[in-house]
Amino acid sequence: MKVLFVTSEAKPFIKTGGLGDVAQDLPIELKKQGIEIKVIMPKYSLINNKYLEKMNYVGHKYMNLSWRKKYIGVDYLNFRGIDYYFIDNEYYFNREKIYGEFDDCERFAFFSKGIYEVLDIIDFKPDIIHCNDWHSGLVPVYKDFYEINPKIIFTIHNLRYQGVFGKENIEDVLGLNKNEYFNKNSLEFNNAISFMKGGINYSNLITTVSKSYVEEIKTEEYGEGLDGLFREYSWKLKGILNGIDKKEYLPHKSKNNKKLELQKKLGLEENLKIPIISIITRLDRQKGLDIIIENLEEILSKNIQFILLGTGDKKYEDYFYNIGKKYKKNTSMNLFFNEKLAKEIYEGSDLFLMPSYFEPCGLSQMIAMNYGTLPLVREVGGLKDTVEAYDEFKNTGTGFSFKNYSGEELIKILNYALEVYRDKKRWNEIKKRAKKEDNSWSHSAKEYISLYKKALTSF
Ligand code: ADP
Repeated sequence: MKVLFVTSEAKPFIKTGGLGDVAQDLPIELKKQGIEIKVIMPKYSLINNKYLEKMNYVGHKYMNLSWRKKYIGVDYLNFRGIDYYFIDNEYYFNREKIYGEFDDCERFAFFSKGIYEVLDIIDFKPDIIHCNDWHSGLVPVYKDFYEINPKIIFTIHNLRYQGVFGKENIEDVLGLNKNEYFNKNSLEFNNAISFMKGGINYSNLITTVSKSYVEEIKTEEYGEGLDGLFREYSWKLKGILNGIDKKEYLPHKSKNNKKLELQKKLGLEENLKIPIISIITRLDRQKGLDIIIENLEEILSKNIQFILLGTGDKKYEDYFYNIGKKYKKNTSMNLFFNEKLAKEIYEGSDLFLMPSYFEPCGLSQMIAMNYGTLPLVREVGGLKDTVEAYDEFKNTGTGFSFKNYSGEELIKILNYALEVYRDKKRWNEIKKRAKKEDNSWSHSAKEYISLYKKALTSF
């Protein structure tokens, strides 16, 4: 079975969030399980030079996008046994950031249509095209214009970002007929065009990244305006949980040493007795930052240390920066992106805070557990599916959790977790179970393969 995996980001080339991890790890596991897979993504100038330099030019041509005629080139790199193809166009991808540009509509329409244009250059006839998030939402739409007929799987990693643009783009940029493509069953959404709707309406099967999130997006609260569509499409919607690459996050022998090293590195008191509470995240409302902030000064007044690693919304960056200044002694606010430091924090901390408002899957909680750092999460989406709440009577569970999106519930469970922390025996038992959780990709990759088979036989 030949699969083309289409993504807007992939580690180690470029990553802004969980999709970048998934786009590296899932193809590797699929290949291991016998799938012939190739990954295709934009060639951003922001990709680390050490990879850009190793890429080989494969070919180029000119393609039409509405009235435009655009250069489209392809570069190639094999990394960890996987074939990666990079769509090259300097005008579109030589930018300061990878998303959030004035012409994202045009850039990702070009990318999505370009997938078909380059199939002959890369000499690959996929049976399945596996698309991810809105950036490749038009891939199933443009299929109508090409002769090949692969089945298309569309995976939603985060429904919040939908790729919604003004309706004037439909003909002028996308080159699609207004009468045919601008209606509710096609791309129209609130009198604008939605790439996400393209992915949902035109693919053969849709997946999202946890079983709980599948149910949540069918409700008004989490459906981001598309809940009706998901209820209607229940039959083609499936939840497949993400995994992590356990080899990438191998714990060291002594967690205590790692904790002391971390405290030293970040200028905190080197003391094993003080619990370290950490957060590593995009600074976005989604991640439950408001209910953390509601309680943060109370938390910081306890005998704990607080570490944050994150970038994003300026409002949050400013807030954490200022709080860090006020509580110099027991906080470390790191307002940047750094994967090495992320690992050190995951490993050296005791408690990992992730009280998301919504969470399609979430990888951070799994990474933390793998290092024996206990997650404290809100019971939502993938967090609910991966963290089992500690039950002191049965002595079961792998972390701590609470139900409602409320600061009060958060602080209550945090206080409880800190109380359990003081009982080393109990804490270590939970740690042991958390570390043992099998969050590897092997099971989920099998589920994708059976879905590919279903797409090939049912349509
Ligand atoms: P999302 O995809 O919503 O951002 P996930 O939990 O699925 O959330 O994935 C986030 C990934 O990004 C994790 O691998 C996490 O460690 C990483 N990450 C987030 N912020 C940072 C940062 N500032 N520095 C390093 N890694 C980060």
